[in-house]
Amino acid sequence: MQILQGIAVSPGVAIGEALVMDNEGFRIPRRIIARDAVDDELARLTQAIDAAGREIERNRDSVSRQLGSQYGAIFSAHLQMLRDEQLRNEIEDLVRQRHYSPEYAVSRTLRRYAKVFQSLENSHMAERATDVFDIEKRLQRHLLGHRREELTHLTSAVLVLAHNLTPSETATLDRTFVKGFVTEVGGPGSHTAIVAEGMEIPAIVGTGPFLTDVSGGDLVIIDADHGQVILEPDEETIARYRHEAEVHRTLALKLESMRDLPAETLDGQRVRIYGNIEFPHEVSHCTDRGADGIGLYRTEFLYLGAKVEPTEEVHFDAYSNVVKHMGDRPVVIRTLDLGADKMSYLPEPEDQRNPVLGLRSIRLSLRNLPLFRIQLRAILRVSVLGDVRIMFPLISTLIELRQAKMVLADVMEDLDEQGIEFNRDLQIGMMVEVPAAVMMIDRFVEEVDFVSLGTNDLIQYTLAVDRGNKDVAGLYNSVDPAVLRMIDMTIQATGAAQTPLTLCGQMSGNPTYTMLLLGMGFRRLSVTPGAIPEIKKICRSVAIEQCESISRHVMTMENARETRVYLKEELKKTVPELAT
Ligand code: PEP
Ligand code: MG
Repeated sequence: MQILQGIAVSPGVAIGEALVMDNEGFRIPRRIIARDAVDDELARLTQAIDAAGREIERNRDSVSRQLGSQYGAIFSAHLQMLRDEQLRNEIEDLVRQRHYSPEYAVSRTLRRYAKVFQSLENSHMAERATDVFDIEKRLQRHLLGHRREELTHLTSAVLVLAHNLTPSETATLDRTFVKGFVTEVGGPGSHTAIVAEGMEIPAIVGTGPFLTDVSGGDLVIIDADHGQVILEPDEETIARYRHEAEVHRTLALKLESMRDLPAETLDGQRVRIYGNIEFPHEVSHCTDRGADGIGLYRTEFLYLGAKVEPTEEVHFDAYSNVVKHMGDRPVVIRTLDLGADKMSYLPEPEDQRNPVLGLRSIRLSLRNLPLFRIQLRAILRVSVLGDVRIMFPLISTLIELRQAKMVLADVMEDLDEQGIEFNRDLQIGMMVEVPAAVMMIDRFVEEVDFVSLGTNDLIQYTLAVDRGNKDVAGLYNSVDPAVLRMIDMTIQATGAAQTPLTLCGQMSGNPTYTMLLLGMGFRRLSVTPGAIPEIKKICRSVAIEQCESISRHVMTMENARETRVYLKEELKKTVPELAT
């Protein structure tokens, strides 16, 4: 049994068969083959070696023709290694004697060779390891013949173990069969993490390398309540986790019964709990749990899986589904927040050294006015179907907000001229997720109808910690005192101006922080739909006075780790069944 620690990004426990994707996106299949399949598997290996050999010959000839034979010689060396008899015998022996699959045998053998080269003092020789990996990749490609697309053609339940998954790859995972996932890289605030929460499957990121220790079909446990991945679990551990999964189900059923009860504190303060969604179908996840509305609709996900630009009608259909489903409850549609880790078919900006500081979000929309206008038209058109509100992301200067509002006014004028109906008084809001916006918040509130606090980015930009990087994940803290002061400034300024304020970062859906947030003054939380029942349960179990005393104490603390321990203890005292 081997236990790995990672960063839990979507809670729950899952037990099942592993589907392993290596860092090239190849699926690593089952390690062992049936005894009577050896001959067929050896034939498959021969075909793959032959095909890889022909491919290398073609590359060698083409490079020699264009650049001269000394460059073609690089490929001759690859060819020599690929056709080396000793190497081939080693691979075949593993298939014949240990019944390893050819893919696994190739991987085992070539990685052993690569390790020997890597250990050499001579750096020139050490570089040969790269050639060995290159040959391995080529052989695997011929053996497997298919890549990630396979993830969308599953036929049985699996837990996906991958080096990395982009937000759009995660979004296309087949929810019927994918019961959880683990990635070697990735940080706590990445959009991959957010999509996992939306899918409501247990997920862990940032474990560091482990894929070589596991093969397809192995039984694996994902304990995303504690950030642990358990490889080769023993019987006792499996039994314990089966019990835990059952406890989860029972608690979820119990919480479900609160659906139609208001989120009202013991002393009668009403809290509004909205849902965050990425896709229109998630709207039912919100209404099923009694959400007061949609507090954040991340519309950029419409672009992530798309091969061509979504038309105005595509936008309109998606938004109208959501708005109609919500009836008279508010729907906050956020304009595109593309860029950084949410890249689409749009050409990548040339300078990508610091994508989160680059052409992202509202900046990208303001540089692509035709694209922005299409979206604004669609939002305005659905504004007559319900209580639609529009929100601009990543605003960092007053000028930027004014520009966005000007484009909106311009699009309104166009619709007017064309006689197309829309709600002229639709509420306009902004996200506060850049420290500059917090510092200028007293000015911003004069120009918007509402504000939504995006802690995912606010933490990243305040603490200078990439939200998607596992190596600095320990520094990414929602309750860092600097972050809490930023939040407090926003609460004070919006309160003074009587501008409604919602918290929509992931922190709002984490039960550990609910009492603190209520104590600080929040009465509107927009959370991942799966978290609605738990957050509601806490609201109904506490009095504001108690929360205020907690927040007063927290504001005197200097250390995020101690703050979190303190908040967990307070939660345990008040709602023990939700404390982890
Ligand atoms: C945020 O930054 O907190 C937020 C809600 O937006 P996103 O996670 O989509 O960047
Ligand atoms: Mg954000």
